[in-house]
Amino acid sequence: MPVVSPLLHDVAIVGYGPTGALLANLLGQAGLSAVVVERDRAIHALPRAVHFDGETMRNFQSVGLADQVGAIARPSAQGMHFVNAAGQTLMVRRGREGVGPQGWANNWYFHQPELEAVLRQGVTRHASVRVLPGHEVVAVGDRGDQAALSVRATDADAGTTPETLAARYVVGCDGARSLVRRAIGSTTVDLGLHQPWLVVDMICDTTRPRVQALPPHTVQWCDPARPMTIVRVNDSRRRWEIMAMPGDDMDALARPEVFWPMIARWIGPDDATPERAAVYTFHSVVVEGWRRGRLLLAGDACHQTPPFLGQGMCAGLRDAANLAWKLAAVLRGQAGEALLDPYESERAPHVRTFIELAVRLGAVIQPTDPAIAAERDRRFAEGGTELFDFPQPQLGPGCHASGPPPVGSVFQQPLLGDGRRLDDVAGWRFALLGDDAVLAHLGEATLARLAALDVAVIADLSPALEAGLAVHGARALLLRPDRYLMGFARDEAGIAALLDLVPAA
Ligand SMILES: Cc1cc2nc3c(=O)[nH]c(=O)nc-3n(C[C@H](O)[C@H](O)[C@H](O)COP(=O)(O)OP(=O)(O)OC[C@H]3O[C@@H](n4cnc5c(N)ncnc54)[C@H](O)[C@@H]3O)c2cc1C
Repeated sequence: MPVVSPLLHDVAIVGYGPTGALLANLLGQAGLSAVVVERDRAIHALPRAVHFDGETMRNFQSVGLADQVGAIARPSAQGMHFVNAAGQTLMVRRGREGVGPQGWANNWYFHQPELEAVLRQGVTRHASVRVLPGHEVVAVGDRGDQAALSVRATDADAGTTPETLAARYVVGCDGARSLVRRAIGSTTVDLGLHQPWLVVDMICDTTRPRVQALPPHTVQWCDPARPMTIVRVNDSRRRWEIMAMPGDDMDALARPEVFWPMIARWIGPDDATPERAAVYTFHSVVVEGWRRGRLLLAGDACHQTPPFLGQGMCAGLRDAANLAWKLAAVLRGQAGEALLDPYESERAPHVRTFIELAVRLGAVIQPTDPAIAAERDRRFAEGGTELFDFPQPQLGPGCHASGPPPVGSVFQQPLLGDGRRLDDVAGWRFALLGDDAVLAHLGEATLARLAALDVAVIADLSPALEAGLAVHGARALLLRPDRYLMGFARDEAGIAALLDLVPAA
């Protein structure tokens, strides 16, 4: 079989959506060799993600792209309001003014193709990453000492023999219909929500009074006659997500003459021009089996959520952030391959928390039976408007100490004593933060282990961080490169115990 490259890549990434693109940035930044195989030549053009959270912005910061992403995304202090047809506010996902605990605004709105372009531009900084657009992976297998991928140019003549790529690990970032998932033989856990929706992006004329009157926050319009979601992406671009109803002609739903009357309450053809429209079936699933040997999954390939929380892409980017440092530590010989084992046990319950909440929100938004909707409204009228925030779950069992949060959760990004953001000082690696009285007197053995794992040691704490340590009776804490908290330590023995949680090379 002809070979595209005789190289044994460290990692082959199948799929160049946002998950694959962040992973490629992380691996390239770590100096690993990677090849990305993507079926399409152009960035996916249909309407998908419009929102990401503060943790996700921090993941962009981790690959040096926060400024570039900030230039195409809009920070928002506004929340998301669940409103019924009578104008009663049932629930509010709270917004937040200014900088949130992750060191960035809590919520951002953006146009997914622009974000993907920034991530792809970022990958061009890394000579060790090769991208093959217009190539499809048609088979993948684990051969024990390496993995092999059969790759074919999408414009190749039928019957062209696929070429072979070799890599030490393959990560399937290949979306909801993942081929790598099939090769692993993963099973799917259905969390219960499957519903078609029409999604329409509009370019609005901002001089029009009806456009100016549109709400600044996201609205979940809980009207049993036609549930929908309205999002302000930026001043001119607005999103309507419109639930398909029984009896809708699904082939006609995306036609302007069909959807304009559905949103006439807000705007009409004189106010805006439809940019793009597509019908999706929203799913709620988590896969069991994110890894078999050298084959792994990330992103929509291993979980899908209805978009009511704006968290599907964020979850895929968390997978990339979780997996990249583990792959880097194993491939560099800093940790044993057992470090890859807890990838799924850590991430699956975490993402499931978000999906289950999205399914619960779906049960608030989606009722089309007026009696069920009336009962829902009565419940909220009695109980009052429910306020909630994004969950901040703990990872499942894995590479962190046991104990209550914040252990095993994403740690805040405070400013350090010199006024800089924590991650800008620590870089993309483990970070040991603590009291100088402990850190300045570590013994040789501990120092050698810190060096072997390339741990940043930071004693320049802000008063807030010092106070935070004191609350937990601790004098040091260890963060992973993905900024999840491995645990607290009172002294050098406690620090050594945290380092023991990383499987030895
Ligand atoms: C209407 C809608 C609204 C959404 N809103 C939000 C939101 O506000 N916030 C949020 O966080 N998320 C949101 N999402 C979810 C988000 O868009 C997805 O979770 C995200 O795009 C998944 O990224 P991914 O990289 O994992 O997969 P994808 O983006 O699907 O990328 C997979 C890539 O793999 C390629 N591929 C597949 N098979 C092969 C193969 N065999 N060989 C080569 N290439 C292959 C595909 O061409 C594709 O480019 C929304 C989704 C929808 C549909």
